[in-house]
Amino acid sequence: MATVNGATLMARSLKQQGVDYIFGIVGFPVQGFAADAQKAGITYVGMRNEQAASYAAHAAGYLTGRPQGCLTVSGPGVIHAFAGLANAKQNCWPMILIGGASPVYQNGMGGFQEERQVELAAPYCKYAHAIEHVHRIPYYVNQAVRHSLYGRPGPVYLDFPDDIIRGECSEEEVVNVAKVPEPPRTMADPAAVEAALSALESAERPLVVVGKGMAWARAEDEVREFIERTQLPFLNSPMGKGTMPDDSPLSVGAARSTALREADLVLLLGARLNWIMHFGQPPRFHKDVRVIQLDIEPTEIGANVPAEVGLVGDGKAVVGQLNRALDNRQWFYPSVTPWRELLKGKADANMAAVQPMIDDDSAPTNYYRAFKDVVEWLPHDAIIIGEGANTMDIGRTQMPNRAPRHRLDAGTYGTMGVGLGFAIAAAVTNPDKPVVSVQGDSAFGFSGMELETMTRYNLPVKLIVLNNGGIGGGLHPVPEGRAAPPGNLTYGARYEAMLEALGGKGFYVEDPKDLRAALDGAMAVDGPALVNVALNPRAGRKPQQFGWLTT
Ligand code: ADP
Ligand code: MG
Repeated sequence: MATVNGATLMARSLKQQGVDYIFGIVGFPVQGFAADAQKAGITYVGMRNEQAASYAAHAAGYLTGRPQGCLTVSGPGVIHAFAGLANAKQNCWPMILIGGASPVYQNGMGGFQEERQVELAAPYCKYAHAIEHVHRIPYYVNQAVRHSLYGRPGPVYLDFPDDIIRGECSEEEVVNVAKVPEPPRTMADPAAVEAALSALESAERPLVVVGKGMAWARAEDEVREFIERTQLPFLNSPMGKGTMPDDSPLSVGAARSTALREADLVLLLGARLNWIMHFGQPPRFHKDVRVIQLDIEPTEIGANVPAEVGLVGDGKAVVGQLNRALDNRQWFYPSVTPWRELLKGKADANMAAVQPMIDDDSAPTNYYRAFKDVVEWLPHDAIIIGEGANTMDIGRTQMPNRAPRHRLDAGTYGTMGVGLGFAIAAAVTNPDKPVVSVQGDSAFGFSGMELETMTRYNLPVKLIVLNNGGIGGGLHPVPEGRAAPPGNLTYGARYEAMLEALGGKGFYVEDPKDLRAALDGAMAVDGPALVNVALNPRAGRKPQQFGWLTT
């Protein structure tokens, strides 16, 4: 009678469920399993730290629309990957963490790297379970993938003990399961759809906020039709960027603060009123703002601010409902209103305020001057990764996105260090697209060793490090007799030379006049390239009325 072992059955089950990529690090007890995954047709990417691997896995999940895998050794390996689980949970992105585990028959005995992995993973997951029989592996993989994908997406955990990996069962015993179909596209109550449109018609200063939930839902065609037909002013959230093109004339991204503060009605499409949206509360929002909310997660409706209308359902399906309901109405938001004029005036003023910095050619450069060359050089279809405090915030305002799911950043959790893992995921899952990562020197450092991964797989990632020698900028030189500030990093550190040493191509730019040539040189390279740009440590953002995320 034919038998199958746990490793082979796990590989087969993952492939059956559309897990096409696994990012991980091998060791006890999973070394053989990674090779079995390759045999089953899964692309395995061997990384240098489980943290970066776990970041790569959920970025790959967001980009492909199915949970992708992260594989770790037992104990410390699993713990390192919790960083990615937590980040995925906050971002509402799918992933499946497969944690090697010490053998079940040693439970409680103090086995090698023994840890209560399922228990510890649970708070960061939608679903966490140990596999206790070889023949039930397909059952658990089906469960895990379904939980990850359905409803609000998120991470899941499977504990994969050594004796299950090596254990065998007969093929007849194997539990048969179906492939988890695409998530059901649930629709909203038709009465709520009408109520939402009536509310919009009654608003004087309406605003649509497009979040990354819509990018995840692949709702771009519906959202574009809706905005086009209603002519409503809109704002993309940081990773919602590109769902509506940033260069649309209806975008009020350049007047973000004013748009949020003065809107009398906000239609939230797959975006939460959390810290990124300033909780929907004064002083960043109008105290009487009316809120209409579309979300797949019912408990999100009314969070932080009561919602006048809740549209619970899948973003693509529900915006489709809104569009169909528009057929019976002759309404669109007029082209000339005081609201549009206010927003236009503010956007123009904001752009004028940064122009002197864009035009400032002094060396070392400021952020805006550096981004000027980056923007002119960026291919329109690039997947852009941004992280670092000022680097990410200014980059978000300066680098436009024209397509959905082409912007990855620190996200809902504000995680620094995701960049290299995200860039690897983008390059592996989108081999036909340019991948550009713009990071601060601090953000870069968290996972800098992943340069070796990029070089080993010859991934054509173009990395730009805006290097101001510190976390939020360093103090250089440090005055005699004074301790260096806690956020200081080495000013002028040659990060590009690290990549050169590993076999990639590096460029160091001290004067902005040399930046464009370096960027062109990087793009001409077949594999990874890093452009290390010395930044004036005192360069910052234009003065802000409020703290984070203001333009
Ligand atoms: P952003 O950071 O872009 O504002 P958030 O992560 O705060 O976005 O919010 C995204 C929201 O999208 C979450 O509340 C999530 O439940 C929701 N969401 C996820 N998938 C879908 C979907 N298919 N349809 C509609 N909403 C979704
Ligand atoms: Mg820095």
